[in-house]
Amino acid sequence: MKKRMRSWLTPMPRNLREAFQQETTQLNLRRLIGISIALFFIALLLLAFEDSFFNIGPILFAFLIASLLQIPLLFVTFRYRLKIKRSLIQAQTLLYLVSVILLGIQLSLRLHAQTDLVPVFLMVNLAIAAILYLDVQTSTLVFTFAAVLFTLLLPAFQSDATVVFITRVNALVFIFMAWLLNRMIYRMKVDGFLMESELREKERVLAEMNQRDPLTGLDNHTSSFRKLYEEAAKAKRIGYPISLILCDIDDFKTINMTFGHQAGDHVLLRLAQTITATLRTTDIVGRYGGEEFILILPDTDEDAARVLSERLSMALLKTSYDVDVKVTMSGGISQYDVNQSIDEWVRTTDRRLYEAKHSGKNRFESGQTPHQLT
Ligand code: GH3
Ligand code: MG
Ligand code: MG
Repeated sequence: MKKRMRSWLTPMPRNLREAFQQETTQLNLRRLIGISIALFFIALLLLAFEDSFFNIGPILFAFLIASLLQIPLLFVTFRYRLKIKRSLIQAQTLLYLVSVILLGIQLSLRLHAQTDLVPVFLMVNLAIAAILYLDVQTSTLVFTFAAVLFTLLLPAFQSDATVVFITRVNALVFIFMAWLLNRMIYRMKVDGFLMESELREKERVLAEMNQRDPLTGLDNHTSSFRKLYEEAAKAKRIGYPISLILCDIDDFKTINMTFGHQAGDHVLLRLAQTITATLRTTDIVGRYGGEEFILILPDTDEDAARVLSERLSMALLKTSYDVDVKVTMSGGISQYDVNQSIDEWVRTTDRRLYEAKHSGKNRFESGQTPHQLT
């Protein structure tokens, strides 16, 4: 596996950063929406029974008002997240986290005055750490904010200096652990994302390799045939002509025997380049077999295909090779008849190729008068 350069602050390689941020922003927003709705109803429920608690009505009320403003905003942001600047989305996430932290701190301090414990505040920190993917800067900002505010406000609710000290230490240790947990979860997400994108890239390369002939880079037999079916169907549906040329190098065995197989490979490659350069970009060239090529020509009738085959024969004459050789090709040409099956179409074309070979090579045979290059 390729080793990637990853810094501590920005563990994601530059080319994947955008996609990763999109994914985590989407996940965070979705979770925040869930949490905000759940918290809204929990706060509402608590408010209904607030007499039995410790007079926390005003705190809950403030949080409910803040939620009523922020929940619709979270929805809108989620809906238009790809069009909104990420710094704004992040600011909104932070704003909501601040309201939750404030709620946690206030509830905790109210309870603390009675019980000397601050479980709600610790729970809030733990929940933020476990649920949201925050990068190191944001996470440090959030937990530092929580720690500082809590530390400052605590004495207002607790007069015993020892208890203040112990509670502060406990809370700070806990917040640090929450921060660490958040780092670990984020890092795991980064690693998972990297592995996934590496896998996707490998799959793409494999799929590409499955379609290509390694020597010439052209479509291989399977891929050419798939495209032949696709193009024929498209031509039939839209109603334009489509033609097929099957061609084969003349006396290729002699080239191999005279100059060696490596030279033969080179000739194949150069030929593939000549064919590709002669055709239109919408045409498809495949390596049909050893030294046979398939040319699929959409929006081209048999006459136009014949003209093209002449151009190709001329281009072949001008092609130069590492070895001193003139290479020619013979081919069969035929236009697709929609009443034909694809198999019949290929058989007809193949038969014309055979005819071209038997009537002297260096020629392309179509349904009309045979054509011989002079
Ligand atoms: P014809 O004019 O009748 O087509 O004669 P030919 O010699 O070209 O035809 P034949 O089909 O008898 O021989 C094809 C040769 O192509 C045989 C095979 O060794 C060679 N060949 C097939 N694939 C490759 C390849 O990838 N590289 C090389 N160097 N040769 C190949
Ligand atoms: Mg041949
Ligand atoms: Mg052959």
